[in-house]
Amino acid sequence: MQIQENVLLAPYTTFKIGGPARYFCVVSDQFDALQAYEFADKNKLKTFVLGGGSNILISDNGFDGLVLKVENRGVEILSEDANQVTLKVASGENWDEVVRFAVNNNWWGIENLSHIPGSTGAIAVQNVGAYGQEAKNVIESVVVFNKETHEIQNLKASECGFSYRSSIFNTQAKGQYIIFYIHFKLSKVPKPNLSYRDLKNRFFFAEDPHPNPLPGGEGTKIPSLAEIRSAVIEIRDQKFPFPTEAKKGNAGSFFKNPVLSKSGYEKLRQAIVKNFGNDKASELDKKKFSDSTNLTAVKFVLNDSVKVPAAFLIDLSGLKNLSNGGAAINQNQPLVIINQSGTATSAEVLGLASQVKNAVLSKTGISLNFEPELIGF
Ligand SMILES: Cc1cc2nc3c(=O)[nH]c(=O)nc-3n(C[C@H](O)[C@H](O)[C@H](O)COP(=O)(O)OP(=O)(O)OC[C@H]3O[C@@H](n4cnc5c(N)ncnc54)[C@H](O)[C@@H]3O)c2cc1C
Repeated sequence: MQIQENVLLAPYTTFKIGGPARYFCVVSDQFDALQAYEFADKNKLKTFVLGGGSNILISDNGFDGLVLKVENRGVEILSEDANQVTLKVASGENWDEVVRFAVNNNWWGIENLSHIPGSTGAIAVQNVGAYGQEAKNVIESVVVFNKETHEIQNLKASECGFSYRSSIFNTQAKGQYIIFYIHFKLSKVPKPNLSYRDLKNRFFFAEDPHPNPLPGGEGTKIPSLAEIRSAVIEIRDQKFPFPTEAKKGNAGSFFKNPVLSKSGYEKLRQAIVKNFGNDKASELDKKKFSDSTNLTAVKFVLNDSVKVPAAFLIDLSGLKNLSNGGAAINQNQPLVIINQSGTATSAEVLGLASQVKNAVLSKTGISLNFEPELIGF
């Protein structure tokens, strides 16, 4: 295992932004990991584990420590029966290739997570989710290298603390583990998850919005895995510029959807009525989707709370056309900040993100949180 010095990090990120790592190495197994952490300990260096760089913003000054880039490979069937299959997937595998592999084999459970950039290991870090599916629903366990004990551990999903965009890996155990493998439990029995409205509309409401047939109900056909994957990719591509195909670097959603208590939602509603009028508040009511019996409105259902679309708040606050230097709000999906010029700096991205955060706070009372991790600031 080689440790390199002064490696520019921008090319390792989908934002295409960021200065150099003081030290950089590629780790493929626990022996590499051990050497890397021994080097960091000896030289009193901070460490950062890098996957595909699609959920981070690296400072223009870079990272004054050791970056460990995880690049192990392999997909293996651990067990299978007539109904399900358990896969062991190496962290360094490209996530979308894994989804494609599962879809091609007719295994259900991750098709809605199609076309999300990055590595497989990181899927567990923020419990990646999209179109009504979350990684936690298919993760059986996570195989990690413990930085303190130098041991390999198998953490059951129940030990990973998964919730919306969160797990122990980005909260209390942040930086403690390198994820080397994830065990996924996938179904051989068709289990289409069409709870997300755009997706359901694609298969059931496209021609006639009135006689809404229930998915899987009489007279309807269950869409195939390949059909669902193509629909997800098509819907996503209208909103998210896919970094390998578009020039506009980005890290996906820059802002998380706020999750509010019922009273928090009421407060937000009052602020919207005051600043934007009743019609806008009614529009938000339609989007909050708190009633799970309403089949057209299940995107934002949570048990006792309400998930509010941050994109709506950004749009409402008149920020859709905002830019700062080379960084701009993405017109088709205002949750996304893009490196529009191709030469945007991290300072410009953060400056823009802060403007959005402050404006949304002053107009709605909601404090938006950033989704990508900020490195080296
Ligand atoms: C166009 C676009 C669309 C996106 N859409 C979505 C979406 O719909 N839903 C969603 O949830 N996310 C989305 N994302 C965000 C991102 O793709 C995911 O969070 C992805 O899982 C990050 O993977 P990565 O390998 O690039 O992680 P990185 O950005 O490299 O790292 C992210 C975090 O994970 C940690 N990490 C990475 N690998 C490991 C490992 N092996 N062991 C321990 N820690 C590790 C890093 O230290 C860091 O804290 C999108 C991003 C883009 C650019």
